[in-house]
Amino acid sequence: MTRPVMRLLPYRFEQDVAAAPLYEAVCVCGDSEDCGEESGQWLTPHPVEVWMRAHRGDTGHRRFRRAFVDYADVSH
Ligand SMILES: [Zn+2]
Repeated sequence: MTRPVMRLLPYRFEQDVAAAPLYEAVCVCGDSEDCGEESGQWLTPHPVEVWMRAHRGDTGHRRFRRAFVDYADVSH
């Protein structure tokens, strides 16, 4: 009995530099359910940090889910 041989083709995953990456955050602080306020999407992390700081100051909320989104070009 022979075992099947898995061959992994050498794919490359490169960031698509033609598409700008995006930064955002969502407030996940809350007693029974998440607050859910969103920073909106930005081209740099700084406006997201400014929004989180302001939201913390306004509400006392201090826990956020952050996301960084980019686009990938896959080739081999
Ligand atoms: Zn909040």
